[in-house]
Amino acid sequence: NRQFRLAKRPEGKPDRDTFDLVETDVPEPGPGEALVRTRYLSVDPYMRGRMSAAESYADPWDVGDPLRAGAVGEVVESNGAGFEAGDIVVGNLEWADYTTAPGTELTAVDPDVAPVSTALGVLGMPGRTAYFGVREVADVKPGDTFVVTGAAGAVGSVAGQIAKLAGARVVGFAGSDEKVAFLEDDLGFDAGINYEATDDYRAALDEAAPDGVDAYFDNVGGPITDAVFDRLNVDARVAVCGQIAHYNATERPTGPRKLPALISKRARVEGFLVGDFAPRFEQATTQLGEWVATGEISYRETVTEELESAPDAFLGLFEGENIGKQLVEVGEA
Ligand code: NDP
Repeated sequence: NRQFRLAKRPEGKPDRDTFDLVETDVPEPGPGEALVRTRYLSVDPYMRGRMSAAESYADPWDVGDPLRAGAVGEVVESNGAGFEAGDIVVGNLEWADYTTAPGTELTAVDPDVAPVSTALGVLGMPGRTAYFGVREVADVKPGDTFVVTGAAGAVGSVAGQIAKLAGARVVGFAGSDEKVAFLEDDLGFDAGINYEATDDYRAALDEAAPDGVDAYFDNVGGPITDAVFDRLNVDARVAVCGQIAHYNATERPTGPRKLPALISKRARVEGFLVGDFAPRFEQATTQLGEWVATGEISYRETVTEELESAPDAFLGLFEGENIGKQLVEVGEA
């Protein structure tokens, strides 16, 4: 059994030395537990927070701990866990070939509904984050102009499409021409902005969102967010989902720099965690499943092969290497 552990706490950007690959015995499932073989492993930006000792919403890992992630796997053995060998499940598993987990912490995945990998993306945590962030936090209404950053990523790509379904004009910031083409041609965004190709985000916004911004879904923070704050309309709503531009920072930012822009616009800025909506996850997953089935929502996955590629897949999130949800497909050990 191959297993990745936290080798050391990263200073600034993590690198390959952050990770240790070790061989262990295949674990034995205890009472109520299942032994699960990993098929798809999710890598997510929030894992950067767990690598640091600083307090965050997810508990920090200790050095030497096995890394964990949302994962889809196949039950190999069930010790009264309520599953049978061969069942496909999603849960929080180790970055490893095999993990044992209590049956109560695993959820069945129906392979007939959609490819099982979607339980980690459009039909999983990122899809639900987009769903609740757009509808409940950003409170998008018909006729709004909606802007999303990290727009070609797992959460952003779904958020923009849900805002479109809610009747908004949708504008996305992403880091390459290829991603902008994906937003405009494949996902139906009204406009995409390649932020790597311009320094003048305000001018780009004036062109893409000529009526200003009513709802902003922020995955990124930093100077793009400064520019969007300068273009908010009266009564704008800002859903703060993530701040990936800051996750590797070694110094704290000095605070939101554009608060004066919020005063005259009476704008509301609200952070949220997808977990806050747990009682309604099923509703969101069902709705997302219907939209995917009817083609109203499209999705893309970027999949690297083999467990060994997990660190690079994770590090690639900070370089924008993924389009849509970044996954690792774990082969047979
Ligand atoms: P993504 O699939 O969007 O991957 C991250 C993307 O961020 C990259 O592809 C890259 O795209 C972009 N990016 C990286 N660094 C920067 C930067 N410095 N400036 C601008 N863009 C950058 O990840 P997820 O969809 O999984 O997550 C998106 C955000 O949502 C993250 O901030 C994450 O922490 C947050 N999140 C929050 C949740 C919550 O409950 N609040 C739940 C899930 C996610 P590009 O090429 O465009 O730069």
